[in-house]
Amino acid sequence: MKITGKQIIGYANQSGAGSFKSVAIADNNSAPYFFEEGTAANVDEAARKATEAFKVYKLIPTTVRVKFLEAITSEINSIREVLVAMAQQETHLPQPRLNGEIDRTINQINLFVNLLKEGSWVNAIIDTANPQRQPLPKPHICQMLKPLGVTAIFGASNFPFAFSVAGGDTISALAAGCPVIYKAHFGHPVTSELVGNCIAEAAKKTGMPDGVFSLIQGKTTESGKALVTHPLVKAVGFTGSLAGGKALFDLAVKRDEPIPVYAEMGSVNPVFLLPDKLEDEAVTIAKTLVASNTMGVGQFCTNPGIILMMRSPASEEFLAQYETALAEAAGGKMLTDVIAGSYDKGIKQLKSLQSLKLLCSGAGEENTAIPHAFVVSGEDFIKDKTLFEEHFGPVAILVIADDTKQLTEIAETIPGQLTASVWANQNDVTEFEDLFNILEEKAGRIMINNAPTGVEVTHAMIHGGPFPATTDSRTTSVGSQAIYRFTRPVCFQNYPQQLLPAELQNDNPLGIWRKVDGEMTKNGIA
Ligand code: NAP
Repeated sequence: MKITGKQIIGYANQSGAGSFKSVAIADNNSAPYFFEEGTAANVDEAARKATEAFKVYKLIPTTVRVKFLEAITSEINSIREVLVAMAQQETHLPQPRLNGEIDRTINQINLFVNLLKEGSWVNAIIDTANPQRQPLPKPHICQMLKPLGVTAIFGASNFPFAFSVAGGDTISALAAGCPVIYKAHFGHPVTSELVGNCIAEAAKKTGMPDGVFSLIQGKTTESGKALVTHPLVKAVGFTGSLAGGKALFDLAVKRDEPIPVYAEMGSVNPVFLLPDKLEDEAVTIAKTLVASNTMGVGQFCTNPGIILMMRSPASEEFLAQYETALAEAAGGKMLTDVIAGSYDKGIKQLKSLQSLKLLCSGAGEENTAIPHAFVVSGEDFIKDKTLFEEHFGPVAILVIADDTKQLTEIAETIPGQLTASVWANQNDVTEFEDLFNILEEKAGRIMINNAPTGVEVTHAMIHGGPFPATTDSRTTSVGSQAIYRFTRPVCFQNYPQQLLPAELQNDNPLGIWRKVDGEMTKNGIA
C-alpha cells in the first residue's frame, strides 16, 4: 500500500506546501506518514477541473452515474481490511465498530443507488398546455431538480468512513450530479487518501470526467477557507463542530456570490424522563442512557448530554441507578489530542461551577477520557445558558426540575437540537401533550422510549435541526433526502420535446412518478 501524502486533484496527484504528520505508523517502518498541506493553488486547480467535469457529469445518464456509485462500493470493499487497520491506528476506534461503519457507508451508497434507479426523486412536475384557454393560451410548463454544481465537503473526525470521504455528504452530492472537492480531516489523513483513491479509481473505471472528485489534505484551516470562498464552488456540506461550521458559514455569506452551506454541527440531545415511566423503569432507563452516553467514548453528535426529570422518589432511584451504571462504564482514548484536550477542559469547567454537583465518574486509565455525570436543579439550569453547550465526550448533566411547569419552561428555552427524546408511558403521553408540541420546534428528530444514538440510514430519517444544530433546518445530512441539498428546481416553459430531459418528456421514457396537471401518475401524456 503506497501513501503519497499529496492532494488528489481529479486523476492526478499534486504537491502541496509544508507538511503534517499522521498518527498512523507506516507498515514495516517506525516512521509516521507525512502529508503535504493543501494550498489555495491546489483548491483552485481542483475547482477548475471540477467545473469542467460538471459540464459532462450533469448530462451523464442516471444509469451510468449508478455504475460509478456502485464501483465506489466495490473499491472500498476490495481494501476493507487495510482501511480498518489504518482507521484503527488513526482514530483509536475498535475494529468491530470500524467494520460496521464500512458496512454502513456501503449501505448509504446503495440507498442512493436505489433512489437513482427508481428515478422519481427528481420531483418532475408538468402542467400541460391549453392553447384554447381564454383570454390567453396557456403554455406547457414543467420543472425538475437539477444539480447545483461544484460542491465542497468537510467531514468530521468521529466517523472516518460514514461521515468522511465517501460518506453521506459526498455520495448525496455525487448522486445529485455535483462534482465534489473533499477537505480531509487532519485526524485521519491516511484513511482519507485510501478512500479518496477508491473514488478516483471508480470514476476512472466507469468513464467519469477528470475532476469529478478531488481531495485536499490539511491540518490548518487555510485550504478549507480557500475552498468555501472559491468563486467556482456552488455549495458546501459540512459535518463537525459548531465553531467550524459557523466559521465556514460566515465566510460563505460574505462571498460576492453567497452559496448554501449545509453545516451539521454538535448537539446535546435533551432526554426527558416523564414521571410514570420513570417510576416503572428507572433501572432500565438508567442503564440504557449510560450505555448511549459512553458508547464510542461519547463521541457521537447524538450523544444524550442532558437528561431532565422532575424531583420524586423515582428520580432519586434513577440517580442511584445512573451512578451505579456509570461507575462500571469505561472511558477510552479519544479521536484526536485536540478533542481530548477540549474534553478535559470542559470537565474542569463543569467541576468549577457552584450550581453543579458531581454525581459520579466512570473508570479509565491515564490519557483516556473518563465518563462523568453532574446533577443540577431546574432553577439553576434555567439561569445558565452555557449548560446547553456541547462537551464532546462521555458526560451528561442530569437536571432535576421542581414540577411540570419548570420542566416545560426548560423545554421552551432549549436551543436547536439534532434530537430530543422522551421516555413516557401512555399516562405521560396524555398528560404532557404540550411538551411534545414544544419539542417539535426544537429538534430534527423526536423519539419516544429510544436512545438518540444510532441514526438509521433510511428514507424518512432527519439528521438535522434548527440552529445551532445546523445552519439550515430544512434539510438532513443522513438518509436519501440528503440529496435535495445539492439540487435546485429548474422550470422549462414552452420547450420542444427534444430539448427536455427524459424525466420531463411526454411519453415518460423512464417510467417515473410525476405530477401531471396536479395528479401523481406514471402515465405518459398523449
Ligand atoms: P471540526 O473540528 O469542526 O472539523 C470538521 C472539518 O472542518 C475538518 O475538516 C476541519 O479541518 C474543518 N474546519 C473546522 N474549523 C474550520 C475553520 N474555521 N476553517 C476551515 N476549516 C475548518 O469537527 P470534529 O472535531 O471533526 O468533529 C467533532 C464535532 O462534530 C462534534 O461537535 C460533533 O458533535 C460533531 N459532529 C456532528 C455530526 C452531525 O451530523 N451533526 C456528526 C458527527 C460529528 P481540519 O481537519 O484541518 O481541522
